[in-house]
Amino acid sequence: MNKETFISNIKELNIILSEEELYKFEKFKELLQEYNQKFNLTSIINDDEIYLKHFYDSLCLFKVPEINTSTTILDIGTGAGFPGIPLSIINPKIRITLVESNGKKCSFLNLVKEELNLSNIEIINSRAEDYVRTNRNKFDIASSRAVAHLSILAELEIPALKVNGLFLPLKSNIAEELKETKEKLKDLNASIEEIIEYTLPIEDSKRTILKIRKINETDTKYPREYNKIKKSLETNKK
Ligand code: SAM
Repeated sequence: MNKETFISNIKELNIILSEEELYKFEKFKELLQEYNQKFNLTSIINDDEIYLKHFYDSLCLFKVPEINTSTTILDIGTGAGFPGIPLSIINPKIRITLVESNGKKCSFLNLVKEELNLSNIEIINSRAEDYVRTNRNKFDIASSRAVAHLSILAELEIPALKVNGLFLPLKSNIAEELKETKEKLKDLNASIEEIIEYTLPIEDSKRTILKIRKINETDTKYPREYNKIKKSLETNKK
């Protein structure tokens, strides 16, 4: 997807880029390319791939209307800033918290924040489970892309949501993970409201956004230590 197709395709998501926003996307692309090796950021690095698989893919969260009316968003395992940074460029009114355990990637995120003048993002260098344990019931929306099994993500993110908040993981193949997560969602007092399926343009690969609502407060025993979360998933799979 080249820059022109990116600009035109995101109109279908009701996004019309201003000159300043376009400049920020271009600058972000250049920073990714310039610092990729130094900070070990991503395997997706040529222009067309960045516009499609990083920028467009992240902005697909705008398929969920509530993204426009929320004020606080959590992005766990953001890596080089996806989906959080594209969201913050488009909507400077939302406060976005990017949680990333890798210190090098956080150094890159701080550099992007400064270069793009993104005053609406906060970068937290921490394991998600540690951060969430002391930041419960705080966010309107929690999202994540390419970080972990749905069941693990649900335990990491749902406790951080306010009651009525939305957990919106970006996923590709979801059927199996969903089956393995249904009981966990009940435990976390959350329920699936919608499954939004679509295909990524150009490469026609399948994508899913799950819209999962937190119905009631989550038990304070969640999130557990990461190895416990992982172990219980493996046990349930057997
Ligand atoms: N979300 C980005 C994307 O879609 O391009 C990055 C995906 S990358 C495959 C996964 C990232 O999650 C890595 O940067 C890793 O350091 C981070 N990560 C994994 N587990 C984490 C945890 N428990 N807490 C915080 N970050 C975590």
